[in-house]
Amino acid sequence: MQGIKFLGNKRIQVKDFPKPQSQRQNVVVKVKASAICGSDLHGYFRPEESEFIAGHEVAGEIFEIDRPTYLKVGDRVSIHNMIGCGHCEFCRSGDWIFCHRVKILGHSVHGGDAEYLVVPERNCFLLPSDLSFEQGALLGDAVGTPYRAIKRLGVNGTHTVALFGLGPVGLGALLILKLLNCKVIAVEISQYRLDMGREFGADVVLDPRKEDVLAKVKEFANKKGIDVSIDCAGQAITENQALEVVKEGGRVAFVGENASATIKPSDQFIRKELIVIGSWYFNVGEYEELTNLVQRGLGIEKIITHRFNLEKAEKAFETFASGQSGKVIFRFD
Ligand SMILES: [Zn+2]
Ligand SMILES: [Zn+2]
Repeated sequence: MQGIKFLGNKRIQVKDFPKPQSQRQNVVVKVKASAICGSDLHGYFRPEESEFIAGHEVAGEIFEIDRPTYLKVGDRVSIHNMIGCGHCEFCRSGDWIFCHRVKILGHSVHGGDAEYLVVPERNCFLLPSDLSFEQGALLGDAVGTPYRAIKRLGVNGTHTVALFGLGPVGLGALLILKLLNCKVIAVEISQYRLDMGREFGADVVLDPRKEDVLAKVKEFANKKGIDVSIDCAGQAITENQALEVVKEGGRVAFVGENASATIKPSDQFIRKELIVIGSWYFNVGEYEELTNLVQRGLGIEKIITHRFNLEKAEKAFETFASGQSGKVIFRFD
């Protein structure tokens, strides 16, 4: 089967891999849609060759099963990209993301940028018939990640929200916030993504290189601090701004990945008594809430701006890495 391999320094090879086999509880999925994620770019830019096929935002059709318990060949599924041990306290409560023995598609096992993918049956969630494969591929990172942060912050339609970063997760957050009827000011440096933010209903979009973020957000919040801020950019500067713009007693989520940043705990959140959370991915039990969101008009597929066949993998990654795109997705027609 065809799959992609990062060769290092932005070079990608589309090559033949052995087709995976179903064995015991592992099923083979024929991939129908696989989306490129910001986290794939580490492997893309790194100088070393990657060991595994990339891709962890995947939907497809069950192709082969060895010992089925509830799935059958032909079932349409969305894939949960973290393979937990299945037995620890975290796995038992649906928080596979915390499993100490977790394997992540595309990072520690082969991912979905290939014709076929092998995963445990429990990682396959049935896709409702009115959801497309593309929507299915976006349910995890683009819907589940922002949804869980927004839910845990207790955001509702009375809130005014500052959103930092309009990559795919930020755009997903914006769609959810507008579905909830929040007022949103979005901060982003890519003009392409600012335009998408405006189109998706952000009340104000601003480019931090052209405008004073703190002053603009304050103006947007009627001279007070804002109720909620969500950082999807994962930059030290946006994380600091997310803490600064929120009012006393406000709520902040750090969602964008960042290895380190310097903050000022006393001024920025102790004395403002903020609630600050980190949020990574969704709990398995929330899958139905995610499909409900899409069925009730979330319009998540709007974040897809480019579609490629696997043969055009280099072009696909180049497009996504440029910031001149929303979500970029591989199709397998
Ligand atoms: Zn992702
Ligand atoms: Zn576990």
